[in-house]
Amino acid sequence: MKNISILGSTGSIGTQTLDVVAANPNKLKIVALAANSNDRLMEAQIEAFNPLVAALSDEKAAQRLRSRYRGKTKILSGPEGLQAIATHEEADTVLAAMVGYAGLRPTLAAIKSGKNIALANKETMVAAGSIVMAAVKQHGVAITPVDSEHSAIFQALQGNKHREVKRLLITASGGPFRGRTVEDLANVTLEQCLCHPNWSMGQKVTVDSATLANKGLEIMEAHWLFDMDYGKIEAVVHPQSIVHSLVEYVDGSVMAQLGLADMRLPIQYALSYPDRWDNAFGQLDLVKAGTLTFESIDTNVFGAFKLAVECGRTGGIMPCVFNAANEVAVYAFLAGRIRFLDIKNLIAATLEKFTNITTPSLEEIENTDRETREKAKVILAELY
Ligand code: NAD
Ligand code: MG
Repeated sequence: MKNISILGSTGSIGTQTLDVVAANPNKLKIVALAANSNDRLMEAQIEAFNPLVAALSDEKAAQRLRSRYRGKTKILSGPEGLQAIATHEEADTVLAAMVGYAGLRPTLAAIKSGKNIALANKETMVAAGSIVMAAVKQHGVAITPVDSEHSAIFQALQGNKHREVKRLLITASGGPFRGRTVEDLANVTLEQCLCHPNWSMGQKVTVDSATLANKGLEIMEAHWLFDMDYGKIEAVVHPQSIVHSLVEYVDGSVMAQLGLADMRLPIQYALSYPDRWDNAFGQLDLVKAGTLTFESIDTNVFGAFKLAVECGRTGGIMPCVFNAANEVAVYAFLAGRIRFLDIKNLIAATLEKFTNITTPSLEEIENTDRETREKAKVILAELY
């Protein structure tokens, strides 16, 4: 039996993780759940999974839950609550499924208290990859990817040597605006943006998938997770989302992982690894899938992707700056304050305000994240 804590249990990945736990009652047990403010859903999750502890970061939401709830689960709140869920003594594995940079502190706390990490929260790795990976080594914990592309690469690397890898090929669906020109993108709406062709996800990652910033973040995530130079990581568009990513070896062999576009499969693998468990969620039918196609990313159209890759290659604090500027821009877009193409423009204008620090400490990363948000908000107020 593996004991699991989930950071971000009410989100898209969090709820799908609970589906995986429910499908494997003899193998997985929930000991702790944390989320931001959805007290109704948290209450239902507590009823269904009986965790020892649950936390809501939002104090008011936690109060609402406490005023209704009469059961045995302890209800915590605020940053201390989040910390308690991340480090709970009964948990072996923490599924990091919060969205954004906010996941960094609790994920680091989990690593430092010896928890294995199943990582969905890519922004944490992007902003502070060197710090996270050093902590993983220092505390001797395992980190398994949940992101479907990284799960695919992780699987395609099994049994092979790191030095014999020629390239990691990360697939991208291309999002809802594949094949469009910059002119086409000038007036796209939030509704069009939130209509992802293949995946149903949280709003932030859905917008990232439309700008392809998500693919840039994933390249940075792969750089840290697999200790691979940027020169050896490429992204390729694969609209069917059946091939989840590939590893090319020096002898010319290319190993791919294929499967349904269902996040419960990589979530289950992240929790079952090194074993494989029966699948309750459906099998891929290759004949039904039919044709699999591949094309390159148009970096002139998807400027946020291009900026992300440049920041990754530059390293230091620039990935953290990219990530924070992107978060501000995406939430401004979701709030209707800026247009789709302004996401990239705001990131570019914010990046210009920073000079790099090549090997930042955690404190420097925390300062950078805060300053980036402040500067991006000033630009936002001035220009939009
Ligand atoms: P989501 O918005 O659906 O859910 C986010 C979760 O984080 C919610 O439970 C929310 O309550 C919680 N949260 C946010 N801020 C918090 C805070 N301050 N304190 C406590 N909890 C907080 O997002 P999602 O789509 O599930 O994505 C989660 C992460 O997984 C992201 O980093 C995303 O890039 C990554 N990811 C998602 C998918 C997907 O299919 N949804 C696929 C691959 C990777
Ligand atoms: Mg992904």
